[in-house]
Amino acid sequence: MNIHEYQAKAVLSGFGAPVPQGYPVFSVDEAVEAAKKLPGPVYVVKAQIHAGGRGKGGGVKIAKSIDEVRAHAEAILGMTLVTHQTGPAGKEVRRLYIEDGADIASEFYLSMLVDREKSQVAFVVSTEGGMNIEEVAAETPEKIITFSVDPATGLLPHHGRAVARALKLSGGAAKQAGKLAGILYKAFTAKDMSLLEINPLVLTGAGDLICLDAKMGFDGNALYRHPDIMELRDESEEDPKELEAAKYDLSYIALDGQIGCMVNGAGLAMSTMDIIKLYGAEPANFLDVGGGATAEKVTAAFKIITSDPQVKGILVNIFGGIMRCDVIAEGVITAVQEVGLKVPLVVRLEGTNVKRGKEIIAQSGLNVISADDLDDAAQKIVAAVKEAA
Ligand code: ADP
Ligand code: MG
Repeated sequence: MNIHEYQAKAVLSGFGAPVPQGYPVFSVDEAVEAAKKLPGPVYVVKAQIHAGGRGKGGGVKIAKSIDEVRAHAEAILGMTLVTHQTGPAGKEVRRLYIEDGADIASEFYLSMLVDREKSQVAFVVSTEGGMNIEEVAAETPEKIITFSVDPATGLLPHHGRAVARALKLSGGAAKQAGKLAGILYKAFTAKDMSLLEINPLVLTGAGDLICLDAKMGFDGNALYRHPDIMELRDESEEDPKELEAAKYDLSYIALDGQIGCMVNGAGLAMSTMDIIKLYGAEPANFLDVGGGATAEKVTAAFKIITSDPQVKGILVNIFGGIMRCDVIAEGVITAVQEVGLKVPLVVRLEGTNVKRGKEIIAQSGLNVISADDLDDAAQKIVAAVKEAA
């Protein structure tokens, strides 16, 4: 789960990290009131969406007076902001953050993430922070320094010095960098984050380090331990299909392809996606209905798949173990009767009660293409989608 910049900064501030003073707002009048509470004379009006690259997309504007704050707030609030992270459709800006303008001497990059190969939290640090970090990574990767922290020892003073060295800092600024590394590591582990990105981390003209931007992601499996973080969830930023799936406890991830998949078991779901690709098409989603799905759950899953306008064909691939094929068949039939079927549907059933499941589908009178094995099923759905196109 991701949260907004202003929320991430509040979390960081709670751990003692230096962030600029600022206020989240939902209207132009509130933006003006917020700016009046700031010291000035420079203010920053920042779009709050769950995507980076806002600056380049026109979602971060510097204001040199309260009137300019009003003008920028009017322009940004309600706009559809398109950045390299939103996709071409962009995201509507519903909230703003009005922040004190910082006097920037240098812009650095600092992020933390879980290095799954090492099973450690890694720091990624570069002197080349700011809005072009993607180019730095592509063209001069040697300017990005990475190291990880052994959880058995936790963060040690030498890690803090490594951050300072990577940023080429000395004296008071180096001390601040070391202290900040400790604060960020504590915040990251205490809140079960999966990602923390400070870009830019800035050195001010006065020689102070400040976190000027903050992107924060959390491990969904650990959210139950953090009701305070759960409260920060902004559902309007999330895929409505994924939210609906979560209500029914379905593991669903929306993807970009044309073939909707309904499968039981994560491994089978992944092989189904692979084989769709093997035969020349792309999956529209990952969907694992789980081991003990009810007909109601299957119906919900089917509705989520069909509500995606990108879906041009559906492949139901079920290996009945604990899950019975007749339950799946009934769920599919109920869903088709409720929402209709506008695209080809291939069903492959195998395992417990497969005979009964196949009978239910055959007797339904619905236009369902039945398949015998995974290979056959994938070829049939890819062919059907190509034919319909
Ligand atoms: P994004 O990464 O989505 O583009 P940022 O918060 O990093 O958004 O803002 C983009 C740029 O705007 C920063 O690299 C920085 O140069 C400038 N900026 C952001 N916040 C401030 C601030 N409070 N004071 C001065 N400049 C800022
Ligand atoms: Mg940024």
